[in-house]
Amino acid sequence: MSKKKKPNEVDLSLSTRSIHAGETRERYADSLTTPIFQTATYTFKNSKEIESFTKKKKTRFEYGRYGNPTEEIAQKRLADLEGAEDCVVFSSGMMAITTSILSLVHSGDHIVITDDSYKKTLEFCRSYLQRFGVECTIVPFGDYDVLEKAIKKNTRFIFSESPTNPYLNIFDLVKLKKIAEKYKILTLIDSTFATPFNQRPLEFGIDLVLQSATKFLGGHNDILAGAALGKKGLIERIRNLHKSMGGLIDPHCCYLLLRGLKTFPLRVKQQNESALKISRFLESHKKINRVYYPFLESHAHYSIAREQMSGGGGVVTFEIKGNLNDSKKMLDALKLCYIAPSLGGVETLITHPAIVTYYDYTREERYKLGITDALFRLSVGIENVDDIINDLDQALKKI
Ligand SMILES: *Cc1c(COP(=O)(O)O)cnc(C)c1O
Repeated sequence: MSKKKKPNEVDLSLSTRSIHAGETRERYADSLTTPIFQTATYTFKNSKEIESFTKKKKTRFEYGRYGNPTEEIAQKRLADLEGAEDCVVFSSGMMAITTSILSLVHSGDHIVITDDSYKKTLEFCRSYLQRFGVECTIVPFGDYDVLEKAIKKNTRFIFSESPTNPYLNIFDLVKLKKIAEKYKILTLIDSTFATPFNQRPLEFGIDLVLQSATKFLGGHNDILAGAALGKKGLIERIRNLHKSMGGLIDPHCCYLLLRGLKTFPLRVKQQNESALKISRFLESHKKINRVYYPFLESHAHYSIAREQMSGGGGVVTFEIKGNLNDSKKMLDALKLCYIAPSLGGVETLITHPAIVTYYDYTREERYKLGITDALFRLSVGIENVDDIINDLDQALKKI
């Protein structure tokens, strides 16, 4: 296979660009930080200016739903980091995913999605799209033959994630691209767990990258945001629908996203290191049954992960030796890690998918998806790694 460069090898100045990309050196009102343009609309000097705008002789801002300067800077910065021609940001990751998908399909089309995709993405494809005459085939993650066989004449795209939630499975992007090219279909990758620090799918020829910026990119558990990134034409198509759907991100939220992005490479670098250390600690712990982390040699996709990623990311999934009651004891004994959904922020969060995300599934349904009673997902924050390890250790002693 052609050796793809890992993100950190492509450009050593990712950390610099996280601070500066998307903004002119000349600052509005000489403000060092990005201004928040808190406006719903924009004024025209006179009728001549309106005419030159509507005749497209001049590009400028017009109305809040069609764009805002703070939003534009966030889009430019994210596009730069992901290595994309263009980017559109949204009020959440799901808004980015649903708007992107809707902009690509027509009634009568067919799509393929892998089975361990984000719960709400799967639900959207399986239930809602069906109502509009879009057929969806869900294929088991990692079986490339089944994936290829699922493709039909009317297949528009393949959607997957890498790494996935919660098992951190890694999609072989080279294989995915080969299959997609053969049948001339689009490829969409939700790259939320990786971020452009660890993986850049567009460099593998993937057509569209989706990000929940709520997670690592924002990084402080204080905003909801999403992004779609890819070639200009494709993004323009999504942006047009976005203008009708109206799932706008507000200017203040864009500011917080931009502020979060400045430290994103520092944070993810630390999270990579801490998560690897924690996963090694857990793997050697006698109360632990299994650990899933892409950069652990025991992970099923270790070699692909090493090939296409420059870090294993900040999420560690593990199974304790015990039942549901032991899991609850473990959760209740934690003193530093907060029990909460979400991931990617500076605080270490732990979730128990069986009682949090899959609370509305029967035990049998959960087990079919591999969501066992003893399974935990840890989102490693940037606290001192030994403090996190000590907290986990003392909680494991309680079971
Ligand atoms: C959180 C998440 C989403 C949804 O993003 P929101 O910002 O919560 O809407 C989608 N995909 C993945 C992989 C996620 O982790």
